[in-house]
Amino acid sequence: MAEFGIIDVKWSTFLLDGGAMFGIVPRPLWAKLIPPDENNGIRLAMRSLMITSGDRLILVDCGVWQYFPEKLRDRVYAIEQPELAATFEARTGRRVDEVTDIIATHLHFDHVGGFVTRQGDDLTPTFPNAAFHVQKEQLAWAQEPSDKDRGSYVKPLIDAIVAAPNLVLHDGPWSLLTGLEIDVVHGHTRAMQIVRVQLGQRWLVHTADMVPTSAHIPPPYIMAYDTEPIKTGQEKKRYYTTWPDAVYFFEHDPEHPFWTIVLDSRGTPARGEKVSFK
Ligand SMILES: [Zn+2]
Repeated sequence: MAEFGIIDVKWSTFLLDGGAMFGIVPRPLWAKLIPPDENNGIRLAMRSLMITSGDRLILVDCGVWQYFPEKLRDRVYAIEQPELAATFEARTGRRVDEVTDIIATHLHFDHVGGFVTRQGDDLTPTFPNAAFHVQKEQLAWAQEPSDKDRGSYVKPLIDAIVAAPNLVLHDGPWSLLTGLEIDVVHGHTRAMQIVRVQLGQRWLVHTADMVPTSAHIPPPYIMAYDTEPIKTGQEKKRYYTTWPDAVYFFEHDPEHPFWTIVLDSRGTPARGEKVSFK
């Protein structure tokens, strides 16, 4: 089995509506977990998981899109994103051209917006040597989204992905290396990839937007953005029961990304212990 190194790459933060992030959960409950600002906004992190193995340097997702019109970027999403290549070097000690693979969980702007960098009028690949792994069904959905989730897909970004020479399409679950497995779930959006990494006896599960923060661990804590929320709840429970001893990675967690999951006194899945890598 391959040996893996694990690094949390925190790119940036942005603001989303707290109510939309917690779906049917009443504000007094979620506001205790992530306190909102005066407009009900909550500030979330945008993180990538970096996995190293031999000469492979693998990123799961690659940063938020930052080329929105000013109002959307500054007032609605309040995106804070320093320059990607410099941030990557500062966080990892590696260069963007060393990245060999990017696994795109799904093509929402806050997950793969960093795929390209704007230079003048052109969009150029931020990670020029990386194969970009996407599910075929997610790419098809991104090209013709529903009215509900159209705002999560940025047309110039999707066009750049479709035209990319290093695009690799997958159809269902696959494996990048032994012990680096990719599953597919459908509750948040069609064909979202969940990455699992085997670390000795233990699995690390990157939950993508199935469980966006550690505050979203209980099965009914489901984002209003999801296209099939009942499925999201079922998918979460399936992971918790299949991999109860795994370390879970929460991509948007504002405080800390790695946690174990335990059952609380009522048998509800809840945050366990913080886990750190090196
Ligand atoms: Zn998403």
